[in-house]
Amino acid sequence: MTGPAKPAIGTVPVQCCRCRHKHMESERLLHEIGDGRSARVCPRCAAHAYYEIVEQAAWCWASGRIEMGDEDDLPEGAILIARGPKAYLNGTLAVLTRQGRGASEGVYLVPGVPEAQDEQARGDALAKWLKWCAGNNGHKGRHGVTFVTPNY
Ligand SMILES: [Zn+2]
Repeated sequence: MTGPAKPAIGTVPVQCCRCRHKHMESERLLHEIGDGRSARVCPRCAAHAYYEIVEQAAWCWASGRIEMGDEDDLPEGAILIARGPKAYLNGTLAVLTRQGRGASEGVYLVPGVPEAQDEQARGDALAKWLKWCAGNNGHKGRHGVTFVTPNY
């Protein structure tokens, strides 16, 4: 299998939860936290908490089920719906989608798609939802997450 190499451990881009400093995981400083233990902390403010901001893509299936992953791994037959920093992409989708119940527990679903009666209705529901989501592209609260609007 060929393709772009996955990032090596430690080379994941991250952002500090406190001071918002963007850096690589490998740049985080080793800090003594007592009892002989140490933690990797922000090189600017020494905070422990951080987000992974590696760029990820989200796609959906005809069923309305949404998945996230590397855009290079976009499966055939899936529709690309959004891109953004991993932590924010997940958080944004959690707010804008419907969460599955029962067997689909924890799965993000495009609202209106699972119950649509035919392909036309599914396409319409997806397009309507994407247009609504894309209306906030570039908004500060989106943290770089952008939705892809289909060309129907
Ligand atoms: Zn910081």
